[in-house]
Amino acid sequence: MTNVPITVAHGDGIGPEIMEATLHIITAAGARIDIEPIEVGEQVYLRGINSGVEPKAWDSLRRTKVFLKAPITTPQGGGYKSLNVTTRTMFGLYANVRPCVSYYPFVATKHPSMDVVIIRENEEDTYTGIEYRQTHDMMESLKLISRPGSEKIIRYAFEYARSHGRKKVTCFMKDNIMKMTDGLFHRVFDEIAKEYPDIINENWIVDIGAAKLADTPEAFDVVVLPNLYGDILSDVAAQIAGSVGLAGSANIGDQCAMFEAIHGSAPRRAGQNLANPSGLLLGAVMMLVHIDQPDVASRVHNAWLRTIEDGVHTYDIFKESVSKQKVGTKEFADAVIARLGQQPQQLKAVNYTTAPRHISETQILARKDPLSEKVLVGVDVFIDWHDGSSDQLATIMQQANDAGLTLSMITNRGAKVWPNGMPETFTTDHWRCRFMPAQKGAAVTHTQITNLLQRVDATGLDFIKIENLYTFDGQAGYSMSAGE
Ligand code: NAD
Repeated sequence: MTNVPITVAHGDGIGPEIMEATLHIITAAGARIDIEPIEVGEQVYLRGINSGVEPKAWDSLRRTKVFLKAPITTPQGGGYKSLNVTTRTMFGLYANVRPCVSYYPFVATKHPSMDVVIIRENEEDTYTGIEYRQTHDMMESLKLISRPGSEKIIRYAFEYARSHGRKKVTCFMKDNIMKMTDGLFHRVFDEIAKEYPDIINENWIVDIGAAKLADTPEAFDVVVLPNLYGDILSDVAAQIAGSVGLAGSANIGDQCAMFEAIHGSAPRRAGQNLANPSGLLLGAVMMLVHIDQPDVASRVHNAWLRTIEDGVHTYDIFKESVSKQKVGTKEFADAVIARLGQQPQQLKAVNYTTAPRHISETQILARKDPLSEKVLVGVDVFIDWHDGSSDQLATIMQQANDAGLTLSMITNRGAKVWPNGMPETFTTDHWRCRFMPAQKGAAVTHTQITNLLQRVDATGLDFIKIENLYTFDGQAGYSMSAGE
């Protein structure tokens, strides 16, 4: 069998030590890999490269498409771009996979039988970083959720469940409030779940779901979430498993994948042969499954479980009552190597078979539903205004009504303030004026909207943005406000 080339970054702080230990273990276990080392991190940043990666290092990644990365130190001070965010966006790593497992009674935890995999969407939601200051008082962040983006991550979660012998996939979202964005994520989840009748599916509103996850994590198996909820809950899950230092993670894309520990470079522990290499090692186990060497992944993982069970522990998880031997990074690696071929006696052994099949964007686009009929039916014009009441604003905006469009509503932070607003409603300087066709049900043209904007401009008001209102196959593609 030919070796698989992988790109390896030794990172900063404890990075080089835990990487050396990890590579030592996986090669001793028979990993069929060719290592291409690259330099990333602190020294690269300090040479003035604000992505933390030398341009030629990207070539290695483009070639191997597999990246095993030790933690890096981001220098203090501004102007440095997160290496993870750059890698994620440049290589389209849409899925972040983080198994959160407790190893009771060998590692202290309040949740002895926790075994949850968090699968977080990695590219969309509020993480596109599209933000604006629109008025003196108002900031805006765009939350973008797409059908192909949701399909990819949700299908990946079901494929992961199937290939890892998992029984259930749970979706967290908040579609009682965000009916369009989270509503789409929920709908796509329900559609895709039907294709996997062998896997149980369920969904939770994220607030109560998060409370349940923190209280009773054993009720969950695989959890799939949009980006922001996933970011928060993957940390909660890792923390309550009692094993932040033991967790690895994978970032998976169509073209490329990156594997790492979830912890940082722990600079204070660097160079002392103290650090626990387990997080990076479990990241490397996920990499071995990904590069189709599940036999090696199982050997490494089971030997590691046996080492933990035998009480051979680094300082961070060492406890007099359960641990038997306190070891350094190198000795821990030797202990795992000595147990290659052994199975854990109490903890559940693993048996990896295949990597989850993931569907590429081209496949998703190829089988997209026919395009729906999209009709422009109105426009919301946002105004920066702090000079008076909603009635006064309505009077001015009505001057802007053009022949075909008429002001139908004004809201402030989503609350309807005209017509028939309530004096108690608190308002800011950020107003939304909705214009609909004067003749109910008529279609609207872009020319009518540009004419309207010229008329708004002539009133002297500052319009900060517009949002066109469309219907799709007759269904409103915009939210109604309370009281509309
Ligand atoms: P950290 O994860 O490095 O350390 C937090 C605590 O956990 C420290 O007490 C540390 O000693 C301990 N710890 C972490 N990993 C350990 C291990 N393997 N073995 C034993 N003990 C371990 O977090 P931090 O101190 O907030 O950050 C340090 C640096 O790491 C910062 O520069 C930060 O930007 C960077 N960081 C990098 C990554 C990454 O590269 N993926 C992730 C997080 C933080």
